[in-house]
Amino acid sequence: MTANLLDFDLDGLAAFCERFGEKRFRATQLFRWIHQKGAAEFDEMSDLAKSLREKLKTNAEITALPVLSEHISSDGTIKWLFDVGGGNAIETVFIPEEDRGTLCVSSQAGCAVACRFCSTGHQGFSRNLTVAEIISQLWFAEHFLRKHFGQSDRVISNVVMMGMGEPLQNYSALVPALRVMLDDHAYGLSRRRVTVSTSGVVPMIDRLGQDCPVALAVSLHASNDALRDELVPLNKKYPIDELMQACKRYLEVAPRDFVTFEYCMLNGVNDTPVHADELVKLVHSHRTQRAWCKFNLIPFNPFPASGLTRSSVATTAAFAKILNESGIVTTIRKTRGDDIDAACGQLVGDVRDRTDFHNRLSRRRVITISEENRPTTVGKEGTVDDC
Ligand code: SF4
Repeated sequence: MTANLLDFDLDGLAAFCERFGEKRFRATQLFRWIHQKGAAEFDEMSDLAKSLREKLKTNAEITALPVLSEHISSDGTIKWLFDVGGGNAIETVFIPEEDRGTLCVSSQAGCAVACRFCSTGHQGFSRNLTVAEIISQLWFAEHFLRKHFGQSDRVISNVVMMGMGEPLQNYSALVPALRVMLDDHAYGLSRRRVTVSTSGVVPMIDRLGQDCPVALAVSLHASNDALRDELVPLNKKYPIDELMQACKRYLEVAPRDFVTFEYCMLNGVNDTPVHADELVKLVHSHRTQRAWCKFNLIPFNPFPASGLTRSSVATTAAFAKILNESGIVTTIRKTRGDDIDAACGQLVGDVRDRTDFHNRLSRRRVITISEENRPTTVGKEGTVDDC
C-alpha cells in the first residue's frame, strides 16, 4: 500500500525509510523537501539518490487535501474549504497581521461536543482527521502563501488548533501533527506559537502536558457549571473546578505561564455584569501566581440555527472592563473575514444548509436556558431553537 508521507513525523518517516535500508539522515532530507520546500514530486528532490527516488515513487506519495473553494476577505483573511471525502469538508483560515501570520487548523470533520453557539457543533461529528489531513492544511497554506506573496521565507508563524473539531478528542493524530509543526526540519514553529484549544477534555490536557506541551486555550464561555452544562455539554463530564485544576497542572510544564480562556459573548446569555463578577471570583479562587490566565472575549458570529445573537459592543466593553479592573488581562478579539464567513464551521454549514436542510429540520429540538442562568440585567426569551 502506498504511504502518504504527510502522515509521518520525523521519527515515523525514519522508520518508513528504514524499511528500504535508508539511514535516518535520508529521512531528514526527505522531510525537509516535503515541509520546508513544499515538494510534492520525488523527482524534484535532487540530492536524493535516484534509486531512493524510484523506491519512493513505487511505495509513497505526497498527497494534500483537494481544495473545494478559496475565499479571500477584504482584510486579507483567506479561508479554504478542503474535501475530506464522504461528502465532508473542513475549513482552514489564514489570518495575516502586521507581526505574524496565523493559521487556524481543523482537527476533525464536524465535532461531537456540540457547543450551543458553534456552527460546527450543530453539524454533528463525521470523523477524526488523520495526521496527513491535519498537516496537509499547514503544508498547503504555507506553500500557497509563499507563492501568493512572492516570498521564500516562512509566512505562517503561528498555528491555532481552533478550526473544526475538538483536537483533544483526536489525540493520536494531534500529537504527531504538532511534532511536525514544531520540528526544525519542517516548520520550526515555537511551542509558544502553537496553540491547542480545547473545550475541556481534562485527562487529555494532562497527557498533552506530558507528551507535547504547547500553548493552551480553553473554551470556557460560562461563569458557572449550570450555564456551561448548557453551552458546552462536555462540562457535565468535566465541570469547571476540575477544568481549572487541570489548567493549573498544565501550567507547570507549559511553554507560556498563562492559559487563555476563550469566552464567546452571547447576548443575554452569558454577558451580564453578574457573569463577569462570577468569572472574577472563579479566577481569583484558583489563583496560584499573580496572573495565571488571560481572557479573550469573542464576538459571536450568528448563524440561523443557533437562535443566539451577538452581545453589543458596549456590553462586551463593559464586561471586559470588569475583568480588567479586577486584574485579569482581557482582550476583545477583532472580527476578521466577516465578508467571507470566516468563523469556524460557517462555510461548511452553508454547504450543508443547501444539501441537508430538510433532514436537519426533522431533527429540530428545543433547548431551554434554565431559570438560574437567566441574566438579571438583560431580558431574553426563555427558549432557543437548535437544529
Ligand atoms: S466550539 Fe469547538 S468543541 Fe465546541 S462544538 Fe465547536 S468545534 Fe466542537
